[in-house]
Amino acid sequence: MTTTFIVMTTSASLPTGPEGAIRTGGAREGGTVTDRLVDANERYAADFTDPGMDARPVLRVAVVACMDARLDLHDALGLELGDCHTIRNAGGVVTDDVIRSLTISQRALGTRSVVLIHHTGCGLESLTEEFRQDLEDEVGQRPTWAVESFRDVDQDVRQSMQRVRTSPFLVETGDVRGFVFDVKTGLLREIDPA
Ligand SMILES: [Zn+2]
Repeated sequence: MTTTFIVMTTSASLPTGPEGAIRTGGAREGGTVTDRLVDANERYAADFTDPGMDARPVLRVAVVACMDARLDLHDALGLELGDCHTIRNAGGVVTDDVIRSLTISQRALGTRSVVLIHHTGCGLESLTEEFRQDLEDEVGQRPTWAVESFRDVDQDVRQSMQRVRTSPFLVETGDVRGFVFDVKTGLLREIDPA
């Protein structure tokens, strides 16, 4: 029996502690990475003042992007707190659950534009649908979800745009644009939908 791992290209070379929790230095010596995040939040909250915003994104835009750790959406797109909805998953794939979020984003919270962002060097390019079979072989249960792996990132962005444009649940499908973010240069490259 083999264990299935996804090999992504971003890995911290931190030592792992018991049960796989990564140990870090810092405020709580020997704490887990989550402890570090909680410590950071205490510092964040100490300087935080209520911006008095409501939940509707100021720029009325929803961004669907890969979860890749090298893609900082707010910095890369000049976004500020409250500007947009960010919907992220492995690949930035437009799944049923992304359509769920977009539907709520548009119908309940007033967004009008959709921006789709894939990127160079995505971990999904090194997977195939065999990943599901491997999982079934290992755990005895086939996942209900598709892996949504791809070989041609441009084509996958086009497919994602198409899924948004043809969704019956969305009210605003006129401003849907797709891009590939280059993790080496930080630049977006727009994909022609045709
Ligand atoms: Zn990715």
